[in-house]
Formats: sequence, structure tokens, C-alpha cells
Amino acid sequence: MVSAILLAGGSGHRMNSDTAKQYLEVGGIPLIVHALRAFEESEADSVVLVVREGDESYVRSEILDRYGIRKVTAVVPGGKERFDSVWEGLRAVGSATDDIVLIHDGARPFVSPEMIHASIDAARRYGACTVAVPVKDTIKVVDGEGFGIDTPDRATLYQVQTPQSFRLSLILEAHRRFREDPRPGITDDTMLVEEYLGQKCYMVQGGYENLKVTTPEDIILAEALLARLR
Ligand code: C5P
Repeated sequence: MVSAILLAGGSGHRMNSDTAKQYLEVGGIPLIVHALRAFEESEADSVVLVVREGDESYVRSEILDRYGIRKVTAVVPGGKERFDSVWEGLRAVGSATDDIVLIHDGARPFVSPEMIHASIDAARRYGACTVAVPVKDTIKVVDGEGFGIDTPDRATLYQVQTPQSFRLSLILEAHRRFREDPRPGITDDTMLVEEYLGQKCYMVQGGYENLKVTTPEDIILAEALLARLR
């Protein structure tokens, strides 16, 4: 079984909009529908959609029914932080040990069925992986006074995107340990398996178009990309 957890439980306050960003339209379609359609076209068997508490019935009628989305088996309320929302999604997925789960930001509309396919493959082979792209810019490590103190070799640096994909038993165990003994500074699910289980994550090729729509100018970028990708 391959399940996907699609995260749309954030407040999206950096968008400065009255409409929550997951429902803002890009190309005449709510943002979240783009990612839902990519998973519909992929070999994922089912999708758990994590939404803001109180949005469940709106999402069922205005998103899933209206756009004919069939793979969503559960719509669950998320939590305060991203990792709380992932945890709620994991609880809805189940617990068969050889299952694969993909965790994807609903705010990334341009995930492709090819990225999903490659992620499933790598998660089966290596246990944990993330979609990522090599960084294009030179990256600096900066001290407290605003001075660059180190320039890591760019050839070794990747910018991490989603989906992040795992054997279900592995990511469940990492989240359980994190909840028992939370450590600060964990920013995504790959860090959780690295920190708590010493598990290496394979980098699956993503795309520079797989952007996360966060601030108002990202909507303009997304509209432009969509016109090009169509
Ligand atoms: O806030 P950020 O843009 O990093 O969120 C990434 C994804 O995680 C978004 O799709 C957002 O809806 C989701 N999220 C969530 N629950 C939270 C915070 C973020 O589902 N508490």
C-alpha cells in the first residue's frame, strides 16, 4: 500500500489574504487541487488530507466533490505545528510495516507524477528519501554579527522540497520518539529520521518549478509557471 499525506493545515498568514492560501486560485483552480490531481494521476493508493480544524466539511463539498477527487480516504484536522499535522495524518494512515507513506506540502502545486513515482521507488529501496534540487546560489554560514564565516562546497548542497517518503514503520517510530523526547530545531520529516533513528535519506530529483507557495509574489510565479507547464 502506498499512502500520501497531503498537508493543508497551515494558517498561511504570510499570504496576507482573507482566503486561506490552500484555497486561493491558481489558474482558476484552488491551490490544493493541483497537488491533489498529481496524486490522483500517480500510483499512490490513497490520500489523507490534513486541513485546518473546522475546514473539513468545506473541503469535502467545495474541493473533493466539486473537483471529482477520488483517492482521498480521510479528511482530518491538523495541529499547531507542521509536525503535529503530520502526526494526525500518520494516525489516519494505519500501521502495516511494509507500507510506504509520502508526505507532501499542499502548498506545492507542481509536484509531478514522475517525482511521486521516483519517491516511492527510493522509499522502498532505501527506507527514507526526499525530493530535492541542487542549490544554484553560493551559500554562506553567517555569525551573530552578520558576517559570513564559511562557504560550504556548493556541489554538496541540496535544497529540500517535498514529497518526503518513508517506510511507514520508520516514520511512525521517529515521530513517536520525537513526541516522547522533543528536541529543538527539527524542521522537517527527514531531520526526524536522521536525528532519532540515524537513518540516511536519499535525494530524489525534484524540480525548480516545485515551489512552495508562501507569500503573495509566489502566486504570480505559480501563475507564470502554470502557463508554461500546461
Ligand atoms: O508553513 P509552511 O509553508 O512551511 O507549511 C508547509 C505545509 O505544511 C503547508 O502545506 C501547510 O498547509 C502545512 N501545515 C500544516 N499544519 C501546520 C502548519 C503547516 O498542515 N500546523
